[in-house]
Amino acid sequence: MKFLRVLFVLGGLLVHACAHAYTIDREAFSFTNYDLDVRIEPEQQRLAVRGKITLRNDSKSPQKNLSLQISSTLDWRSIQVDGKPVQFVSQPYTSDIDHTGALSEALVTLPSEVQPKASIQLEIGYEGVIQLDATRLTRIGVPAPVAAHSDWDQIGKTFTAVRGIGYVAWYPVATESANLSEGNSVFETVARWKAREVGAQLKIKLSHSGEGTPAIPVCNGEVGSLRSSQQTGKTYESVNECTFLPLGETVPLFVIGNFDNLERPSVNISLSPDHKKAAESYALAAQLAAPFVTDWFGAPRGRTEVKAEVVELGDPEAAPYESGSMLLTPLNADLKLAQLMAVHQLTHSTLFSPRPWIYEGLAHFAQAVYLERENGRQAALDFMGLHRIAVAEAEKASAETRASNAGVTQSLMNTSIEEFYRSKAMYVWWMLRDIVGESALKQALAAYRADADRTPDYLQRLIEAQAKRDLETFFADWVYHDRGLPDFHIGSVYPREMLGNNYVVTVTVENSGGAGAEVPVTLTMEQGQVTKRLEVAAKSQATVRFEAASVPQEISVNDGSVPESDTSNHVYKIEIPAKKK
Ligand SMILES: [Zn+2]
Repeated sequence: MKFLRVLFVLGGLLVHACAHAYTIDREAFSFTNYDLDVRIEPEQQRLAVRGKITLRNDSKSPQKNLSLQISSTLDWRSIQVDGKPVQFVSQPYTSDIDHTGALSEALVTLPSEVQPKASIQLEIGYEGVIQLDATRLTRIGVPAPVAAHSDWDQIGKTFTAVRGIGYVAWYPVATESANLSEGNSVFETVARWKAREVGAQLKIKLSHSGEGTPAIPVCNGEVGSLRSSQQTGKTYESVNECTFLPLGETVPLFVIGNFDNLERPSVNISLSPDHKKAAESYALAAQLAAPFVTDWFGAPRGRTEVKAEVVELGDPEAAPYESGSMLLTPLNADLKLAQLMAVHQLTHSTLFSPRPWIYEGLAHFAQAVYLERENGRQAALDFMGLHRIAVAEAEKASAETRASNAGVTQSLMNTSIEEFYRSKAMYVWWMLRDIVGESALKQALAAYRADADRTPDYLQRLIEAQAKRDLETFFADWVYHDRGLPDFHIGSVYPREMLGNNYVVTVTVENSGGAGAEVPVTLTMEQGQVTKRLEVAAKSQATVRFEAASVPQEISVNDGSVPESDTSNHVYKIEIPAKKK
């Protein structure tokens, strides 16, 4: 009766909480417009915001209360409607969508109910500090130094970098609590928020002041016309505008540092002045990778003309972060590594898709194809192999939630799990290329238009038109549904000796997994190898016949190009009985 006891305890808590607070639907409102005046004092690590936000009731019932959440190190100063202060209670709210693991939540009582579809404008003010804080990671056991390389956001004297939702709630949001120790809940919550905010408009006036040479601000939106810098004695005050019209999938961020600039045809780099060599290495890498990316994905056709942008992070061990075609990363002098990063980034600046599995999947796929071109197919398979276990684990977890009937299905079309829309998607693109051939896939991609991608089967039709081949089953198994992975093993092998030293080898491959695939089957002979491709549907088997001109020795299935849950049982040794004299 453990379950009942838990329920009872929870019930008690709920009653207790309700007596003191509101019952509130935190995700009832979408934030449709932000107009924020953001002032930053790097020396004090302070942020102060004044501005207006517009919220629309997207729920089905009238709302009298609403929630506004900001990072827990910020405090609410004022909330007004039509110039009059409204009643609100500020409370800490535990949630891992912020690096501190908590939010300052204002529970606002509105002067009157907001009807479904109606909007309300609020004038708001809040301020506080944003310091390096990795509490949400350290409290689940991540060692502090490791956590700090991941949650590196902060306002600092020499360097400032602050990302938005999922890292720092530096602008107001409203979501249900998310917890890093509960599966994928942080990613799901952030994805839900982003989906609601796709059409939102965000306009910020970013001011900062300091001493000495004015530090340069960078943001990942459109840089506005407002741009000024004033020097009074030793101190300066700089004002810049940054707009997101609309926000789309972007997580708004700002960076302030004493950057130098390196501008090249394919990339702009903001670097710290003493890292010129590493920046030049990255610029060279981008230059070397650019023709490859153009060959694959054509001329740039993002949402707007966007150039790849790199901003150097101060911490040399910081985990890189990408937002659209902007990459925040420590600069590294390793040219090979830089080329791989550049391929990913240039792919983003060339082809935009609102679907993460296309946008990110293609960028990872491009890295694998680039490696193949530089170092051969095996190098690409090894690179993809680094992702295989992560995909298999994510599939296992996904199958468990499916079985318990909770959570959304994680098809590539709607997943918020990175292992799927990055790693699994990379494999899907690789398999598609193996199935339809490189030129058909390139032509399909050249015809891809983000604004025409409105129906789930848009991409399937594009590729089918070039490949002249039905891809319904493949897309159903890999893209439209989450059916897990294939699991191949060799069912049987029959070698039969023909005239001379010739053999016919009949191989049956079984797939006990939930997704079908076209898989390479390789016969190794005394002299040479031959590979054939065999389509094996889910939960079934298929047979392929080889003609061998010398003694057959071994059959192997799957060279690593198809992700599988279990990669043992892939090799079968063929024993040919010694000939009777
Ligand atoms: Zn990416």
